[in-house]
Amino acid sequence: MSDEGEAVVAAVAAVADRIEAERSHLTDLDSAIGDADHGGNMARGWAAAAEAVEGMDDPEPTDVVKMAGKTLLSEVGGASGPLYGGSLVFASPELEGGITEETAVAFAETYLEKVQDRGDARVGDKTMVDALVPAVHTFKKSIEVDDMAPVAALSKAVAAAQRGVDFTVPIRASKGRASYLGWRSVGHQDPGATSTLYIMEELLDVATEYAEAPEELPDHAESPTIPDGEVDED
Ligand code: ADP
Ligand code: MG
Repeated sequence: MSDEGEAVVAAVAAVADRIEAERSHLTDLDSAIGDADHGGNMARGWAAAAEAVEGMDDPEPTDVVKMAGKTLLSEVGGASGPLYGGSLVFASPELEGGITEETAVAFAETYLEKVQDRGDARVGDKTMVDALVPAVHTFKKSIEVDDMAPVAALSKAVAAAQRGVDFTVPIRASKGRASYLGWRSVGHQDPGATSTLYIMEELLDVATEYAEAPEELPDHAESPTIPDGEVDED
């Protein structure tokens, strides 16, 4: 498997574990302003996605993302299945050239575009878009304007997503199930913005791990030895 394909498989597995760990928290958030299924929806979908990508034969990043998206689409109902799954499938061709600064930015932008196309939500509607828009814009600016390394840019994007999640609390929902509550949605954190943040945090963890890994070990790597005469005998 290519290193990049392997990294994306690892990222899907990490997301599945994290979402499972947060399942009841996500369900609690959705029970306050929705129908209490977001934790279950996401946990079931990502577990199936992790299993599906684990079984792939030597995939490239674009293939892994597409498979994860297709699996989410078929496993997850409600608003979030098509939004997450459909947008991953739609954005996956952006990674056909592998993962570079350019393809990562293009992927993030296309993903956001599809979420907004499908859901017709804008910033301030109290949805996952409130986390995604600042995250994607921060990622793009950090790379293209501030010339940051991809992992540092992703870290800034995660911080922006966190602020977006916090911003969902005091506002009134205008899209999705929570909008049925009108003003009663005020004071509650949006479940989809929260799961978007968790996914991004896991991507950052895996990206950090892979960026720090040595490119390639020498064929006959040996333990380092201390040359004679350089040992301090005191
Ligand atoms: P459902 O609302 O169908 O029960 P989920 O509970 O799985 O689906 O997902 C709810 C989340 O989906 C919300 O917290 C919100 O972030 C997101 N969402 C709902 N409608 C939209 C929309 N039109 N655009 C973007 N995100 C949306
Ligand atoms: Mg729900």
